[in-house]
Amino acid sequence: MQKLIMIKYAELNTKKDNIGMFLKALKQNITEKLGDKATILFDKGRMFIKASDEHFDEVLLKVQKVFGIHEIMIGYETSSTDIEVIEEALLLVTRDLSFTSFKVETKRSDKNYPLTSLEISKHLGGVILKSRDCIVVDVHHPEVTINVEVRKDHAYIYVDKIKGLGGYPVGTLGKGLLMLSGGIDSPVAGFLAMKRGVKLEAIYFESPPHTSVEAKNKVATLASILSEYGSSIKVHVIHFTEIQEEIYKKVPHEYLITIMRRMMYRIAAKVAYQNRCKILVNGESIGQVASQTLSSMAVINEVVKIPVIRPVACLDKLEIIELAKKIGTYETSILPYEDCCTIFVPLHPVINPELEKCIEYEKLLPYEELIKNAILHETILTNSPKKEFEELL
Ligand code: ATP
Ligand code: MG
Repeated sequence: MQKLIMIKYAELNTKKDNIGMFLKALKQNITEKLGDKATILFDKGRMFIKASDEHFDEVLLKVQKVFGIHEIMIGYETSSTDIEVIEEALLLVTRDLSFTSFKVETKRSDKNYPLTSLEISKHLGGVILKSRDCIVVDVHHPEVTINVEVRKDHAYIYVDKIKGLGGYPVGTLGKGLLMLSGGIDSPVAGFLAMKRGVKLEAIYFESPPHTSVEAKNKVATLASILSEYGSSIKVHVIHFTEIQEEIYKKVPHEYLITIMRRMMYRIAAKVAYQNRCKILVNGESIGQVASQTLSSMAVINEVVKIPVIRPVACLDKLEIIELAKKIGTYETSILPYEDCCTIFVPLHPVINPELEKCIEYEKLLPYEELIKNAILHETILTNSPKKEFEELL
């Protein structure tokens, strides 16, 4: 009898025509994550992952961070489908469990098997009843459900199930560019986009010396945490100082943030295009700050054609924080380093900016030249989960 991990696919079951592509990607993503610590096998609607005792717990943790999985079962594979072999395995699996009521639920993918699913359940239930005192079968509300799946060469027994992350395998829906600040919202936005199968690259705007190297490292750490849910995330670091200082000098201060964000969008759209990213993703949330009122968002969005996806747009801050804690980015996000959005903040930012005014103020800036220059001098951070960052200049 071998311990193993069984996987049920998530929404993939609805992707009838493309299921092959989705499963291939899922297998590839799991393989990439587990390396040679596990072997992965497919069989009708299930994936089976085998790992040595030494690596089992680590493999189990990693599988819980893969998108496209509905449920993870910790099970046992019997050496054959002989009913005596299944009985023996069942007794071993349930030996250390304490319960007073139970049921056995059987699925049989081998339709030539001499017993029906119901007959197997009844037979195995009887075996368990005989093996211990003071227990009853309760088919409606059992304390423990013992699942048996009889397949062609082996049977599988499992009791413990863990909910998977759901969603689609990362990469199956193409690539997006995440506007990643060091805050709480944008990593959560990135996580949610990854959940829908989007592979991410990220863009970070820094304004040294007004922003510190610690602020950049924080973004690098956030990208690294996010990459544990997919593959490595390339971070485009844009030197934003000249643009920001120029805006500060020339634009009425109530419009500083609006114009600054229009510049960010313009740059992000260009970087996305150059890197074949089909969407921008950001952590804007309706009404959170002056630049995220509906009028502000409309005026800012106006400078780009690329779709901008805002996964946390309709979540409350507390809901975003809850997610950030769950995915492991919160503790890093609350480290107190400044962001380029938090320096040069005007006392009274405009809440309902006017497009005509934005266009008029931007005429005061040589912004096309500045943007070209900023993109030309971008630096790249690459990362893999849990590996140190290397900065390529
Ligand atoms: P976060 O939204 O990540 O918690 P924040 O709330 O401080 O940080 P906002 O000022 O609300 O950031 O900015 C809205 C969104 O704009 C961010 O979620 C992020 O997607 C993007 N953004 C802001 N600053 C930067 C930056 N320096 N680099 C890249 N993207 C940024
Ligand atoms: Mg925010």
